[in-house]
Amino acid sequence: MAADFELTFLGTATSVGVPVIGCPCAVCRSADPRDKRTRSSIHLQYGGISLLIDSGPDLRQQALREGLTRLDAVIYTHSHVDHVVGFDELRAFCWFRNDPLPMHATQACMNTLQTMFPWAFIAVDNAYRGYIRPDPLIITGPFSYGDVTITPLPVVHASVETLGFLIEIPEKPKIAYLPDVKVIPDETLEILRGTDILIIDALRPLPHPTHLSVPEAVAIIGELEIGRAWLTHIGHDLGHAELEASLPDHIRVSYDGLKLAF
Ligand SMILES: [Zn+2]
Ligand SMILES: [Zn+2]
Ligand SMILES: [Zn+2]
Repeated sequence: MAADFELTFLGTATSVGVPVIGCPCAVCRSADPRDKRTRSSIHLQYGGISLLIDSGPDLRQQALREGLTRLDAVIYTHSHVDHVVGFDELRAFCWFRNDPLPMHATQACMNTLQTMFPWAFIAVDNAYRGYIRPDPLIITGPFSYGDVTITPLPVVHASVETLGFLIEIPEKPKIAYLPDVKVIPDETLEILRGTDILIIDALRPLPHPTHLSVPEAVAIIGELEIGRAWLTHIGHDLGHAELEASLPDHIRVSYDGLKLAF
């Protein structure tokens, strides 16, 4: 099996990023490059298909760092600012394509995008080719690009409708990506049971009202008997090296620029 499927962690931080502006803590002052985290987002590449999950405030530097030049679609987990506010940077991915850029989101998330970036969705205001040209597509079930099938996984996170995604490619490991989650409903847990790899929210050591803590994420990985997991959406309470040393071998800590290849 050739390693032709690549998942890149563009960003792995919680909403404020790490280091946090003005914070003198040990993690924010760490010299370990894995403790420099931009806002959470991943990129998928397989069989000529290039997919982005979320467009956060750091999208520009993430795209430059990873040499991203082309996207076939953008897929949104939810409408929190740390996942959508890089929307307008996506115009650079519109210049070299004839069709508008497909953007998949729940109706609620799409409504927020249309409120935040109204000009983009009004054809007459958006006639100039240098602007972003979205093709808004509402997520109602699984959808595919080439051999990549994306299945929405509803989760509970704050008061905003939020999805994780199951990423399936024939003969490749099944990967689930849940960057922002507090509670996983039973229907989603059932789908996750057969997943090979879980990438999951683990904000900090202590409980939080809208995100999983590290012990909560570890417990879910255990209950689901997931063979390989990566923690993400991490805050400055957790230094990479110390956190990873505290975890069993099958649970690792993601960091910006990490690539998983299958
Ligand atoms: Zn977030
Ligand atoms: Zn700090
Ligand atoms: Zn969120």
